[in-house]
Amino acid sequence: MPDKLTLDDLVLQNRRVLVRVDFNVPLEDENGMQEVADDTRIRAALPTVRTITEAGGKAILMSHLGRPGGEPTPSLSMTPVAGRLQELLGERVRSVSNIAGDTIEEAIDGMPDGGMLLLENTRFHPGEKSNDDGLAAELAELADLYVNDAFGAAHRAHASTAGVAAHFDEAAMGKLMEREIEYLTRVRDEPEQPFVAILGGAKVSDKIGVIEALSDPAARLLIGGAMTYTFMQAFGEDVGDSRVEEDRVDDARALHDKLEGKLTLPPDHVAADAFDNDAEHHVTEGRIPDGEIGVDIGPGAVEDFREIMETANTIVWNGPMGVFEMPNFAEGTFAVAEAMADATDRGALTVVGGGDSVAAVNESGHADDISHVSTGGGAMLAFLEGKELPGIAALTDREGV
Ligand code: ADP
Ligand code: MG
Repeated sequence: MPDKLTLDDLVLQNRRVLVRVDFNVPLEDENGMQEVADDTRIRAALPTVRTITEAGGKAILMSHLGRPGGEPTPSLSMTPVAGRLQELLGERVRSVSNIAGDTIEEAIDGMPDGGMLLLENTRFHPGEKSNDDGLAAELAELADLYVNDAFGAAHRAHASTAGVAAHFDEAAMGKLMEREIEYLTRVRDEPEQPFVAILGGAKVSDKIGVIEALSDPAARLLIGGAMTYTFMQAFGEDVGDSRVEEDRVDDARALHDKLEGKLTLPPDHVAADAFDNDAEHHVTEGRIPDGEIGVDIGPGAVEDFREIMETANTIVWNGPMGVFEMPNFAEGTFAVAEAMADATDRGALTVVGGGDSVAAVNESGHADDISHVSTGGGAMLAFLEGKELPGIAALTDREGV
């Protein structure tokens, strides 16, 4: 049995605490300089960071950022992230140009209690993704305690999320990890009925597992986004040039048969003559005309979805309803965000997750009106599917010490 699991159980004063955070944030180029485009994930880690520093511990933070392929890549450096963290905290955040080694140990030794240091991108090292035990041991050299607060990376068995934990006598989950697990467990294990799941986004293949897993507990499953057209193809309906995953048509048909009565597909769509915000577009019922692309759910679908959501006591949502990045095709997604807020308002438990879905919810202005905005995309889906998340298992399955 694990003996210490939450941050509150650890003595933090005068101790070096290695914290895996999820600072995998979108960056944007500002006159040749990389800047943080959305700091949601950095803000989500602040309660854990503050708990450590205010208790007089040294917070040694680490995260991956993007896909540098196991080698140093200047455009994916953590430097802009350290800058934003420093702004948010109003306190100095030291940064270093590597993730392990003597110079870092010296920097940590020279740091006052309550100080903070951000390591470089963990994926600059090839051992991160291969969960190399040598790297895990080197990381563990840097600290006395290990805290994992990176829910968004918990579905990966990497050196900084999984392997490293075994090298510590004491390890715990951070505040964000705790909150994520608390809300998602409520949805997964004891959803108050009616429980409605809304799934959209780009690909059926990403979501088949979760649709299957929720097919039993959910009272209704609402489908939107590009996934819609793979389902339509499965019943031989015309989808024009809409995005279809041909190799998933059979899966879609099987799911539809299995979910008879629970699955709701949009009755109408916004069809455009090109994949462009300025393309000619119109609402179409049923089929998508030849040469056109389905880019959003239609007003009839919004009405149906809203009606179903009004009856729900638990709602989980992943995947935008349309190409919301293009303002002309964001209506369906924003309408669902608004319906989520209304449901929360009357007491339903509402959860949204997924990088793009959360970006859409932020843009809609309803993020604060939703019970829980998850920082996980793949991690949230894996959790809801009932899969073991290596980043969590590495903490909970430890030998007691
Ligand atoms: P999340 O990141 O929330 O898990 P996904 O990555 O699965 O969501 O899907 C988001 C992407 O799906 C968005 O970039 C959006 O433009 C795209 N998308 C949604 N509807 C459509 C559609 N009808 N055609 C093409 N792409 C779509
Ligand atoms: Mg996405």
